[in-house]
Amino acid sequence: MDDVTAILDHLNTAQREAVSAPQGNMLVLAGAGSGKTRVLVHRIAWLMQAEGLSPYAVLAVTFTNKAAREMRTRLEALLGLSLRNVWVGTFHSIAHRLLRTHWQDARLPQHFQIIDSDDQLRLVKRLLKDHSIDDERFPPRQVQSFISGCKEEGLRPHQVDVAGDAYMGQMVELYERYQLTCERGGLVDFGELLLRSLELLRDNPALLAHYQERFGHVLVDEFQDTNTLQYAWLKLLSGMRTPMTVVGDDDQSIYGWRGARIENIRRFEREFPQTHTVRLEQNYRSTSAILEAANALISHNAERMGKELWTDGARGEPISVYAGFNDLDEARFIVDTLREKVDEGFMHRDIAILYRSNAQSRVIEETLIRQGVPYRIYGGQRFYERLEIKNALAYLRLLLNRDDDASLERVINVPARGIGTRTVEILRTRAREQGVSLWQALHDGLSDGTLKGRAGTSVTTFADLIERLDNDTAGMSLHEIIDRVIEASGLVEHHRSEKGEKGQARVENLEELVTAARAFTQGEAFEPPEAGEGAVALEAFLSEAALNAGDHEADEFEDSVQLMTLHSAKGLEFPVVFVAGVEEGLFPHKMSMEEPGRLEEERRLCYVGLTRAMKKLYLTHAEIRRLHGKETFQRASRFLREIPEEFLEEVRLRGQISRPVTSARPSGLRQTEVNGGAEFPSLSLGQRVRHPVFGEGVILNAEGQGERARVQVSFEGEGDKWLVLGFAKLMPL
Ligand code: ATP
Ligand code: MG
Repeated sequence: MDDVTAILDHLNTAQREAVSAPQGNMLVLAGAGSGKTRVLVHRIAWLMQAEGLSPYAVLAVTFTNKAAREMRTRLEALLGLSLRNVWVGTFHSIAHRLLRTHWQDARLPQHFQIIDSDDQLRLVKRLLKDHSIDDERFPPRQVQSFISGCKEEGLRPHQVDVAGDAYMGQMVELYERYQLTCERGGLVDFGELLLRSLELLRDNPALLAHYQERFGHVLVDEFQDTNTLQYAWLKLLSGMRTPMTVVGDDDQSIYGWRGARIENIRRFEREFPQTHTVRLEQNYRSTSAILEAANALISHNAERMGKELWTDGARGEPISVYAGFNDLDEARFIVDTLREKVDEGFMHRDIAILYRSNAQSRVIEETLIRQGVPYRIYGGQRFYERLEIKNALAYLRLLLNRDDDASLERVINVPARGIGTRTVEILRTRAREQGVSLWQALHDGLSDGTLKGRAGTSVTTFADLIERLDNDTAGMSLHEIIDRVIEASGLVEHHRSEKGEKGQARVENLEELVTAARAFTQGEAFEPPEAGEGAVALEAFLSEAALNAGDHEADEFEDSVQLMTLHSAKGLEFPVVFVAGVEEGLFPHKMSMEEPGRLEEERRLCYVGLTRAMKKLYLTHAEIRRLHGKETFQRASRFLREIPEEFLEEVRLRGQISRPVTSARPSGLRQTEVNGGAEFPSLSLGQRVRHPVFGEGVILNAEGQGERARVQVSFEGEGDKWLVLGFAKLMPL
C-alpha cells in the first residue's frame, strides 16, 4: 500500500484518532457495534505501515480462535501481505505456543498434552473414586470449578487461604492431588496453560526480557472479560513498558461466573502509565429500533461506567415478540419465520438463533431437521468432542506419551478386549500405591505375576498393540499414522459393526480425522506445524485438536443457520437474530435471579444478544416448557418488560385458532397479525389431548373450518400427526 493514510479510510473521527494515536497505552471503551474490533485491526495495520513496527513485534489477543483467524485475514487484506508469523491468538493459544517452545524451562515433558474440560472432569471423577471420597459432598463439577477458579486467580494449592475451614482444606488437597496426576501424566488443562506460562516468564528473567524486548505493541480485544490471571500475564509480558491497546465494553462483561473481572478496565487505566482513553459512540451495526431497545434494557443496570451509543441508521422494523404455547410451538415459529426470511433473500448464514442454555437447542434442532433447514451448532458437540474422535485421539496420545493415564483408561478396553473394570481397578490401586502411571503399573503387574490368566493375556494384547503401532508408524506422515491407528486399533471395525446410522456416522468421522490430518500438514490450520512429519506433527495436531475442542466453533463454510448460546455470540453480528426462551427462570437464569450482581450479568448477556442483530430481531418465549422431563408454566422475562413498548410488536402466526389468553405476556403490545383461522370451542393450541390410538399429545397447529378442520398434534413417542377433527375423537385433557 503506497499511502498509509488509506488505512484511515472508512473510519470516523474518533476511530481514526484511536487508530493513529502515537504509541502509548490506550483504552478504547465503547458500546456494542461501535467498531472496537475494527479499530484494533486497523491499529495493527497502522503500526506496521506508519510506525514501521515489524509483524514479529505484534502480539494481539482475541477471544476465540475464529476471531484470531478473522483478524489475520482482515489484516492481510488491509496490508496486502501474508502474515503467518504475527502472534494473533487467544490467551490459551499464545500461552500454549510459549510452553511448547520453552517446555524445559516450564518443567514440562516435551510431549505434554492439553486436556479439555471434559477430560478434566473425568480426571476429577477418577480421583474421587480412587480416594473413596464421597462425591455427594464433593460433586465432581464443583471440584473441577474450584480447581479452575484457583488457577484463574493464579493460585497454587499452597497459596490458597483455607482460613481454618476443613471443607476448603479438603478441596485444596484434591486440587493438589489433581495437579500431581497432571504432572505425572504430562497433562496441561486450560487454566494451567496460562498459569504455567506466567510462572515460566516470572521465573526466567532472561526469557522474560527477551519477550518484553521482542513485543513492540500488545493489543487485546474484549478486555472486559479478562480474569485476574490474564491481567497479571499481560502486565508481566508488557513489563508496563511495551505499549498496549486494549478495547472493551463494561456492558458486555458476561464471564464473571468464570472469574472475569470488569474492574480490570479501571485497573488498566490506573496502573498502566499515561493511559489514553478513547470513546466511540456511533454504532454501525444495528437499526435504531434495535439499538435503542438495547440501550433502554441496559440502563436498568446500576453498575455501569456510562457510555453513549447512537446511530444515524434507519429506524428499521420493530422487534417482534412471539409467545409460543409451548417450546415446540416456539421452535416452529422460529423455523417458519426464518424460512420466510430465506425466501425474502437472506442467506441461511445471515440468521442466528441464540439461547441461554445449551439444552434449549434440541427442540429447535429437531424442527430444523424436520423442515430440512441446514444448520450449525456453534458450541455443541463438535467434531473433536465426539466419542469416536476422542477415542482415536487417546490412542494417538498414548503413542506419544504412555504415561497419559486419562487416555490409557479411555481406550484400554475400547474396542472391547476383555479387560474388565476389576483389572482396571487393580491397575489403579497399584499405580496409586506406587506413585506410578497406569502404563507402568500394567508392566509391573505383568512381570511380577499379579496380572495373569485371561486378564494378563488381554492386558498384554493391549500393551503389544500400542508398542507395535508405535514401531509401525515410525517415519510415516501424519495422516498415514492416523489411518493406521484407527484401523489397527480396531476402532473402525468396532463402529462398522454397530447397527444403524450412528455407527456409520462414527466411521465417517474417523475417516474425516484422516482428512483433517492431511489438511493440517498442508498448512490449512491456524498454526502450521513447524516440522511436517512424524511425532512432531502428531503432537502439533493433537494440541490443535484440544484447543479447538475448547473453543466452540462450527464449520464456517457451509451456508447454514447458526445456532449458539448467547455467550458464544459475543463479538459476532448477524442480519437476522432470534433470541429464544426469553422467560423468567431461563433468562434471567434462575441461578442468578436472587443475587443483584448476577442478575446484572444476565442483563448484560441480554444486551449482548440484542446487539448482535443488524436488521431484524425476534424475541420468543413459551408459556409451557418441558424442562427436565416435566412441563412447567413459564412467565415472560422481565427483560421483555424493560424494553419500551414502542420498540416491540407482538406477532402471531396466520391460521391459528383461538387459544386461552394467559397473563404471561407483557401487556399492551401491538398485534400485527390477528388469528385468521378457525374456532374450536373446546380445543385450543397448546392444549393436551388424548387420542384413542396415539395416546396423549399437544395440539401444535390447526387449519380449515367445520367438518374439514384439521389439527396437528405432537404425540409422545408417535411424532407429529395431522388429524381431521371430525374423525379423530380427540379428548381434551
Ligand atoms: P462488539 O462490541 O459487538 O464486539 P465492536 O465494537 O467490536 O462490536 P465491530 O464489530 O468492530 O464493533 O463493528 C461493528 C460493525 O460496524 C462491523 O460490521 C463494522 O464493519 C462496522 N463499522 C464499524 N465502524 C465503521 C465505519 N466507520 N464505517 C462503516 N462501518 C463500520
Ligand atoms: Mg468486537
